[in-house]
Amino acid sequence: MISCTCRLNAVAQRNCGQVLMLQHLEEQHPGSMKQIAAERKNVLEKALSNTNKTPSIATTKTTNSILIPVVFHFVIDSNAFNSIGGIAGIENRINSQLTVINNDFNAQNADQSKIPTVWKPLFANVGIQFGLATTSPTGNASVGYDLRIVPNGTRYDITNGAKAAKFSASGGIDAWDNTRYLNIWVANLYVASSTALGVTTPPTFPGYSLPELGVTINYLAFGSRTSASQPFIRNIDRGRTLTHELGHYFFLIHTWGDDGGLCPGTGGIDDGIAETPPETDAIFNAPSFPKFDACSPSGNGVMFMNYMDYTDDTAMFLFTNQQAAVMQAELAVGGHSNSLALHPYLADTNFKTIKDVKIYPNPTSDYINIEYNSLQYKLLKVDVVDMQGKRIIQKEEPNISQLDIRGLPSAIYIINCYFEHKVYTQKIRVQ
Ligand SMILES: [Zn+2]
Repeated sequence: MISCTCRLNAVAQRNCGQVLMLQHLEEQHPGSMKQIAAERKNVLEKALSNTNKTPSIATTKTTNSILIPVVFHFVIDSNAFNSIGGIAGIENRINSQLTVINNDFNAQNADQSKIPTVWKPLFANVGIQFGLATTSPTGNASVGYDLRIVPNGTRYDITNGAKAAKFSASGGIDAWDNTRYLNIWVANLYVASSTALGVTTPPTFPGYSLPELGVTINYLAFGSRTSASQPFIRNIDRGRTLTHELGHYFFLIHTWGDDGGLCPGTGGIDDGIAETPPETDAIFNAPSFPKFDACSPSGNGVMFMNYMDYTDDTAMFLFTNQQAAVMQAELAVGGHSNSLALHPYLADTNFKTIKDVKIYPNPTSDYINIEYNSLQYKLLKVDVVDMQGKRIIQKEEPNISQLDIRGLPSAIYIINCYFEHKVYTQKIRVQ
C-alpha cells in the first residue's frame, strides 16, 4: 500500500506518519481502515452536500471564526532544547507557529498570491483560529506550553502516534483535557531509520484513547524561521507541517488518496475532494505549475500546492473550499471535534496571539514597526519597558505605527501596545 518513496526521502523531504500509523492501527485492530473510510465517506457526504451546490461557501465565511485553545507540550532532550535556543527559542517558535497556522486557516497567508489563477476561486478561508491556552485545566493562568527534558537521545516512533511522549508515566507529558484543548506535542520523531516530521491522532481513529488525541510534530519542523541560524529540517522551516497535520486532525487525507500510486477510476482511491484533481502519488520539493502526473496528465495537472500534499513549506499555500467545509463540519454540532469549539475563553482571546498585531523587525537596532488593523483597533499609546520593569520610552499619540529606539542599549525589552480596551505585549531584542 505505501510507496516507499516517502521513507527513502524522509530526511530531506516532507513525510508524515499518517499512512504508517493507519497500517499499524490495522495490524492491531483489523478492520480499522475500513471503519475510518466509511466514517470519512459519511462526513464528506454531509459536509459537501452544501458546497456542491454553492462551491464558494467557505470563501464567504469571514466572520464568526472558531477559536480553539491550543497547548504545546515540549518533550525534548537537553541537546534539542539548547539547539533551539532554550526557553526564548521555544517561545519564538510557538509565536511564529501560531502566526502561520492562523494565517493559513484564515486566508491571510502572504504566499496566496502564488496560487495559479485557475484555482484562485477554490481558495478557502477555513475560519479556524488557534489561540494559545491562557488558562490551564485547573483554572490557573497558563503560558500555553510545558516542557519536559528527556534523557539525551530519546526519540519517538510515529507509527503509534508517538505514544510514549503523551504520558508522564512513560517519560512524556500528559495531555490537557482533549475535549477542551487541542494538544500538540513537540518532540524528536522518527520512523524506521529516518527523521519524521509529524503524525496526528484524530478523534476519528479507533483504538486510540482520549488522552492520545492531538498532533505530534518534530521540534525541527515546528515554528517558522525568523533567523538564518535556527536549526530546521531542510525546506521545512515555514511552519507548514503543523498546517498539514491539523488538516489530518480535522479528517482530511493526502491529496493523492494514500493509495500507493493508483488513480481513481482504475482501482485507486482519491481524497474525496472533487476540487483537488486526481493525483498519483505525493509530490515533493517545489515544482512549477502546471505539474502533470499519470492521474492528471493534462489540463491544470495536480494541485501540488495544497497543504495536504508533500511539497516544501514554501511551495504549499492553500486549502480548497471543500476541504474547509470538511474541517468546519468536524467542528460543528455533531462533528468529531465539536467540543474544541466550545471553550474559547480558555485561550488568548484578546488578539488571538500574534496574528492581529505585528511588531518588527526583531531583533532591531533603530526602529520598531507596529502593524495592526487600524480599522478594527485603535492604538492609543505604546511604551517600552526594560526587564527590570523600568519604563524607558513612552509614546502617546493615536495610531502609532513606528517607534524610534535609536540609542537604546542592547538588551531585551517589552513593548506594550495600549489599544482601546486591550493591551498587547511582546518582547523585542535591541542589538
Ligand atoms: Zn500527512
